[in-house]
Amino acid sequence: MRVGLGRDVHRVVLGRRLLLGGVCVSEERGCVAHSDGDCLVHALMDALLGAAALPNVGVLFPCSDEKNRGRDSCEMLREVVEIVYGRGFRLANVDLVVQLETPPVSHFFPMIRDRLAPLLDLDGSAIGLKATTAEGLGPVGGGEAVEVLCVCLLEEKV
Ligand SMILES: [Zn+2]
Repeated sequence: MRVGLGRDVHRVVLGRRLLLGGVCVSEERGCVAHSDGDCLVHALMDALLGAAALPNVGVLFPCSDEKNRGRDSCEMLREVVEIVYGRGFRLANVDLVVQLETPPVSHFFPMIRDRLAPLLDLDGSAIGLKATTAEGLGPVGGGEAVEVLCVCLLEEKV
């Protein structure tokens, strides 16, 4: 078994959509990013790649590559899953913590789970999702950033 850890932070500004796990959770305030800024999917990809001891998302999908501009992170996730599964691993579970001050996002979790499960070839019951605020502290607490943490467990296929 192999454990992986991923973390991603993005600056949040007015006038952009906020995507988390392929689901739009705000039309008013969203992430600044080269891709579509889906912080949750970025942390998830880094956890998967980390567990397989592969280079991280920034190396795999560099900002310098024009084809990654505004790119759908879920499409990148599918690519990552195929790479990791191609190395002989299967995913046992993932657990995610979404840290943002506003808006509340927990009611989107069933939708996020439904979006991620087929991309990960994983049952929705193996996808943990939690939301927390930073109690007004730091950039997350000030509403200037969103941060996502992810751990995952890979098993080697027998
Ligand atoms: Zn990111």
